[in-house]
Parts: sequence; structure tokens; C-alpha cells
Amino acid sequence: MSCSAGPLVDAFNRRITYLRLSVTDRCDLRCTYCMPERMQFLPRREVLSLEEMHRLGLAMIDRGIRKIRLTGGEPLVRRDVIELVQALGRRIGDGLEELTLTTNGTQLAAYADALFAAGVRRVNVSLDTLDPGLFFELSRRDQLAQVLEGIRAATAAGLKVKLNAVALKGLNQHELPDLIAWAHGHGHEVTLIEVMPLGEVEGERVDHYLPLTAVRDELERRWTLVDSPHRSGGPARYVDVAQTGGRLGFITPLTNNFCASCNRIRVTATGQLYACLGGAERVDLRTALRSDAPDLQLAAALDTAMAIKPERHHFAHARGAAPAQPRHMSLTGG
Ligand code: SAM
Ligand code: SF4
Repeated sequence: MSCSAGPLVDAFNRRITYLRLSVTDRCDLRCTYCMPERMQFLPRREVLSLEEMHRLGLAMIDRGIRKIRLTGGEPLVRRDVIELVQALGRRIGDGLEELTLTTNGTQLAAYADALFAAGVRRVNVSLDTLDPGLFFELSRRDQLAQVLEGIRAATAAGLKVKLNAVALKGLNQHELPDLIAWAHGHGHEVTLIEVMPLGEVEGERVDHYLPLTAVRDELERRWTLVDSPHRSGGPARYVDVAQTGGRLGFITPLTNNFCASCNRIRVTATGQLYACLGGAERVDLRTALRSDAPDLQLAAALDTAMAIKPERHHFAHARGAAPAQPRHMSLTGG
């Protein structure tokens, strides 16, 4: 079998240095744009053990992955997930530059100190609204107070908290300026995201699709937005808001394709590596991990992933049409 152990470089000469690892597809919320109320979760026996995830993470670091983001589903609902954070955290400064987490924040208060002690310095918390009624409507759960407490506790523990909000027409659209002002007032950067057609949900996502070009126009009537050279190594483009003194990011998979600078791969909780968030190209790392020659098989699987990573995604919203990909964002973790 021919395989290499060098850095991960795809067919378009993009160096892959960023892994998003979904530690579970399960979640304690049911955001309407993400999943249906009766979400069919993966059978537990198919999900990688935390030891397998650790082994995978180490193999990736050996191939030049420098940043790992744990995500889900909700990463903090996986039992003992902190052990994985601690194990991977030991490689910070030794191959790994950063270990981060994307969370809905409901369990963050309980984990904030342990995350910091394990070497995590930044977390992304998803927060689409500060209105308890709308929070319930959007997430189908009454958990806003816990999320806000999680954000407070994380900040107190020394974690830098960045907020992510999906912009939704007719839902949180009118609240976005207040949400941004609140976040900046508390020292949090905010990134807005366009809703993507991934996985079946109840209702039509397209009804609430809000192009961020329109949001930006609206915000510019109120504030001075100054384009920022800041880059986080991801698809977000930033502005500084003169009046609030805070930074605002825009992730625009639909209105402005950002694939040319893609540096990332995603692995699901069952060890399926998806080479692109919007594509079906994948390799099965679980089979490699559980084979007789895991190191060799993993290296070969990663080489295959580099060969099949597509140049770009082809998202589009169309009324009545199937989603661009049948899998939910909770599987690949965004
Ligand atoms: N549960 C965690 C959370 O909500 O932060 C991590 C996983 S969640 C799938 C990651 C991010 O994806 C969240 O910010 C969420 O708002 C976003 N998301 C989920 N479904 C989406 C969709 N269809 N389009 C755009 N963003 C989506
Ligand atoms: Fe759960 Fe995150 Fe999906 Fe909301 S967006 S249902 S919190 S996985």
C-alpha cells in the first residue's frame, strides 16, 4: 500500500491544518434550522470511543494538523469528554497550536474551569437571540439562562468567548444589532452565519434564509463598519464596528464562496472524514483505526482524503428541493 506521512496537502495545493472533530451527534437543544424535534441519532455502538478519538487526533497532529476544534452535536453532552480535552491538551505546544470547542453553552458553566486547566483558551458559543421566548422558539428548549450563565462562567475562567449567531429572516433579524451591541459590550466578538441547506428539518429553511449582504447594509445604516484585515484562518471576513469598538465577522457560504482558502477537514463521531462541508466526499477512518495496521491504514485514508477533497462546495437554497447534503450540521459539527 502506498502512503505517506508528510503534511496534508490537497489536490488544489491547499495545506490542511485544521480539524473539526465531532465528538457526538447528540444534543440537548433542537435548533429548528439544524435538526428536527425527533432527530434520529447515531447508534452508540457506531460512535468512536474517546480513546479512538484521541488516537485519531494524535495521528492528525503528526500529519500537520495544528488546530483542533471539538464540536458536535453538543460536545459537552458527551460523557467524560473532558478526558479527551485533557488528553489532546497535552499536545498544545507540542505539535498542536490550539485546541478549541464550539458549544451551545448549556453545560459550559460546569466545564469552564476544567477546559481552561486543560489548555483551552477560546470557545465559540452559539447564541442566536437574547430573547427567552425566541430562544425557545429557535431551540425548542428553555435554556437561555443556562447559556448566559455558561458564557459568564467561561469568561470568569479566563476563556475568550466568541459568539456565533445564525441570521434568520423574520426571526432574529431585527434583534441582530442589539445582540451585537450586547456582545461587544461584554467583550465578545460576534460572527454571523448564513443558514445552510444541510439535512432535513421541519419547515423550509429558505423561508428564513437571510443573505448577510442585506444584514450588512442594514447595520451600515446604524453604524460605521470598517473592513478589518483580521483573519482567523477560517472563512469569516471581519469588520470593526466604530461605535461599539467590537469586531464582527461574516460567514457567507452562500453569498460569497470562500473555498479557495479552505484549510480544514471534518470528522464525524463515527470516524467518517468529510473533505468538504458541502460535499459528499468522505473516507472511513473508523475502519482504518480498527484494522490490524491502524497507523498504515490511517495514513493511507488521509492520503485518499487529500486526493478527493473538492475544489469548492455548491450550496444553494431552493424551495421544495432536498437539502444540498442529506446529513445534518450536527453530524459534521459545522
Ligand atoms: N451544538 C454546538 C453549537 O450549537 O454551537 C456545536 C455544533 S453546531 C452544529 C455548530 C454551529 O452550526 C452552530 O453555531 C449552529 O448555529 C450552526 N448551524 C447548525 N445548523 C446550521 C445550518 N443549517 N446552517 C448554518 N449554521 C448551522
Ligand atoms: Fe444542537 Fe448546535 Fe444543532 Fe443547536 S445547532 S441543535 S445546539 S447541534
